[in-house]
Amino acid sequence: MFVEKLKCARCGEEHDPDEKVFYCSKLDGRLDIYYDYDAISSVLTKDELVRRKGGTWKYRELLPIKEGTRVVDLGEGNTPLIKCEDLGRAIGLRNLYAKDETRNPTWSFKDRPMSVGVAKGIEFGVKTAVIASSGNAAAALAAFCAKANIDCVTFVPHFAGAGKVAQLMLYGAKVVRLRWGEEEDPTVKMMLETSRKYGWYPCPSFGPFNPYQFEGNKTMAYEVCEQLNWEAPDWLFIPVGGGGLLAGNWKGFKEFKNLGFISSLPKIVAVQSTGCAPLVRAHEQGKGPFEIEPWGKPETIATGLEDPFPWDGDAALRAIRESEGTAVSVTNEEILEAQKMLAKEEGIFAEPSGVASLAGLIKLLERGVVDSGDLVVVEITGSGLKDPEVVSEHMGLPPVIEPKIEVVDSYLRELGA
Ligand SMILES: *Cc1c(COP(=O)(O)O)cnc(C)c1O
Ligand SMILES: [Zn+2]
Repeated sequence: MFVEKLKCARCGEEHDPDEKVFYCSKLDGRLDIYYDYDAISSVLTKDELVRRKGGTWKYRELLPIKEGTRVVDLGEGNTPLIKCEDLGRAIGLRNLYAKDETRNPTWSFKDRPMSVGVAKGIEFGVKTAVIASSGNAAAALAAFCAKANIDCVTFVPHFAGAGKVAQLMLYGAKVVRLRWGEEEDPTVKMMLETSRKYGWYPCPSFGPFNPYQFEGNKTMAYEVCEQLNWEAPDWLFIPVGGGGLLAGNWKGFKEFKNLGFISSLPKIVAVQSTGCAPLVRAHEQGKGPFEIEPWGKPETIATGLEDPFPWDGDAALRAIRESEGTAVSVTNEEILEAQKMLAKEEGIFAEPSGVASLAGLIKLLERGVVDSGDLVVVEITGSGLKDPEVVSEHMGLPPVIEPKIEVVDSYLRELGA
């Protein structure tokens, strides 16, 4: 393992790579993981990477898992980067790519962080893992725990999508659906209390409670670089909830630049929903990384982005600014429109949270921030089958027609077929 140390992003408390530690003793920030990049560069080269099979474990030297640890591989990662010619033409971009994360084993990018989080759980010898999640992270954790023979307890909000809850139950997780009132996030509260009380391994997709899973997000950035033939895009659009995906991507690009694998870095754009945009608000108000205020009452169809407090917002805000990117929020209508366009033009069915990135891109194109010749990657982070009700609620279901040719003919004419 090439980890040098863990250091709290907030108070600077340091830990040894061999310690069984999940969070800073003050619980005030994420334990950032530092690596020995000189040592890594002596074993990891472009040629070596090209030879290896795709997936999160292709990048093992850049992950905080010991050499002998058994890892669980469900085929996560190694997703396609799809050139979107038709969609690009429709919105006025010549070089548009979609990183299609809908095809991960549990149908969202969360398989990347959870794969690494569960590997660390195996290394620590844990019996039970616990998570707070709006659905996708829990589904991913449950699947990896199933394969690893680790018990999994999930706290989800009452509004978690039916597809996500069904997954949890079938993977054998214990599912606790909690009513979400006005106060602090009840799922995080219960995860922490039970983790302390029973000694369970906390494995949410939030860095301050588990720094290991965070590192899995970097693998998406590595793949984008390789798929663009060892280049970074000009712009990278990322849907943001807790901010771990965005911050992890930025760390990944910086590492590849450090290792000499790419020569430039992308501008990173955080996209949130107007119904829950604490990071966008903090960015616009010029707030510092530790001055982000929680969002009072989240309300959006993008339930995967419904984190009233972005736990990795400090690192996300830094990434936006260091990369000279920006942050933008989009309405439910804009998300639904982007969802329709992506499906119709490119044949990719994404959930609202997963396609918010595209809605943000369309907005910045209209504002003239992104240029028609720029190379843009949008991360499409979760599958539409996670939350199919959203589509039927907004488009309605087609009527049931008598199977007689006259009736069918007239209905087809109505449809313009
Ligand atoms: C969790 C999630 C996000 C946001 O990731 P964060 O790390 O919480 O910012 C985006 N899209 C989907 C589909 C998600 O499940
Ligand atoms: Zn600390």
